[in-house]
Amino acid sequence: MVSRVIPVEDFDLVIFGGTGDLARRKILPGLFRRFLSGQMPKTSRVIGAARSDINTDGYRQMIRDAIAEFGGAEKENTAGIEAFVGQLHYVTVDAKGDGGWAELHDLIRFEVVNAFYFSVAPSLFGDLAERLHTYEIADADSRVVVEKPFGRDLASAQALNETLAEHFKESQVYRIDHYLGKETVQNLMAVRFGNMLFEPLWNNHYVDHIEITVAETVGVGGRGAYYDKSGAMRDMVQNHLMQLLCLIAMEAPSEFESDAVRDEKLKVIRALQPVEPHHIVRGQYDAAGDEPSYREDAGDPRSFTESFIAMRCEIANWRWAGVPFYLRTGKKMKARTSEISVVFKDLGHSIFPGDEKRHRNILSIQLQPNEGMQLQVTIKEPGQGGMRLVDVPLDMTFADALGPDAEGAADAYERLIMDVIRGNQTLFMRGDEVEAAWAWTDPIIEGWQARNDVPKLYDQGSSGPDDAMALMHREDRKWRDIKG
Ligand code: NAP
Repeated sequence: MVSRVIPVEDFDLVIFGGTGDLARRKILPGLFRRFLSGQMPKTSRVIGAARSDINTDGYRQMIRDAIAEFGGAEKENTAGIEAFVGQLHYVTVDAKGDGGWAELHDLIRFEVVNAFYFSVAPSLFGDLAERLHTYEIADADSRVVVEKPFGRDLASAQALNETLAEHFKESQVYRIDHYLGKETVQNLMAVRFGNMLFEPLWNNHYVDHIEITVAETVGVGGRGAYYDKSGAMRDMVQNHLMQLLCLIAMEAPSEFESDAVRDEKLKVIRALQPVEPHHIVRGQYDAAGDEPSYREDAGDPRSFTESFIAMRCEIANWRWAGVPFYLRTGKKMKARTSEISVVFKDLGHSIFPGDEKRHRNILSIQLQPNEGMQLQVTIKEPGQGGMRLVDVPLDMTFADALGPDAEGAADAYERLIMDVIRGNQTLFMRGDEVEAAWAWTDPIIEGWQARNDVPKLYDQGSSGPDDAMALMHREDRKWRDIKG
């Protein structure tokens, strides 16, 4: 099945921080793929903007190199690369100075969609927003894209929101959480709200518990000092895991429209209960042979920052009362995976003699490394051995069913950037959502600080500290195995 690629409207996209790691590793290679797919118009332009004193030719070479380093199979398409870099421009600007801004103003075509990607440190957002207006570059139709981290607590997130609100309406602000750009995340909504099958079961009558695991095999490595100021709660739970939790738990919006969807997500966050300290396990990876420990990577032998967290949360509403949501994320785990599992309740009674095993339907949704869904169902074991039951996965991996297709192959960043150009905010976090998420996580983090909570050590290549296992075991439940 080949899906149609619909070109977006003509645009000029300015990437502040266009020379940075994110721009070279994700944004530009992603735009190149959208260019090759035919989605990026041949007249559209991408304007890199940063302090580095290079010109457009130098920038084009930088992006050729970036595609060679970070691109996939498409990096062999030299003709395509040349055509793409021909649509790139560069302006030297300092967010805190005045040089280059008039030049940027003259370069922009105001008759097409204008988007400004703030791929710089959040401390520069205010300076950029202010100069975009002083130099009359942004107007009421422009869009701004901002990267994570969006604050480190409620107060800083509010301050960032206020800074942006001084110059832009909420409908112009696109806060990126790249997890939301994944095909499977959108499919989650399609599966929930486009099928009769699941929705009647999607509640505390039929669901035993829900698990969300985001495991990484890498440590904090070279960015240890930076990571040590945030930790797993701020870096992963407050944004990615909570966003996934919202999509799993939210009520059906009245229509698939950005504010309707975000209103429902916000209600979930607001219904999250405070978490008891004994329902949270924090961990730090230990040294393993020549592999440094978390504290060595962080450069702080007394660091109390967590590289792992497991927690049990509850949502106080009619649909979910009494259903635990177990969240888990960590570095240096046994495999790289992002998986959501909806574990349905036991049947309660088996009519099959000798069948004492607990059979449960589990809908598991993988976001990485491969995107797909499986539904575990119980069937008769093939053969002549009588009515012996066995649990097998019904595989709904999309690539197998739908085949390779250009739009489907878009990665999260590509899809989200195209959504910015289309003016579709559904997959972007609204300011009040981000603030509500911090309002829930802040007291948890403050509690650790007040108690001098020390994270438990765990082995590299494991599933986290033993206490994380106990969090489920003591309720007669079990985490799903972390498999890549
Ligand atoms: P980076 O590699 O340090 O790049 C920062 C960029 O900002 C460079 O292009 C730099 O270029 C530019 N810059 C710095 N000061 C400037 C100023 N005063 N005026 C204009 N430009 C300035 O950082 P990054 O990793 O690309 O990250 C960018 C943003 O994305 C950050 O907010 C980060 O938290 C977020 N993010 C990054 C990743 C990732 O994978 N890298 C993932 C998620 C979120 P010049 O030095 O030439 O000015």
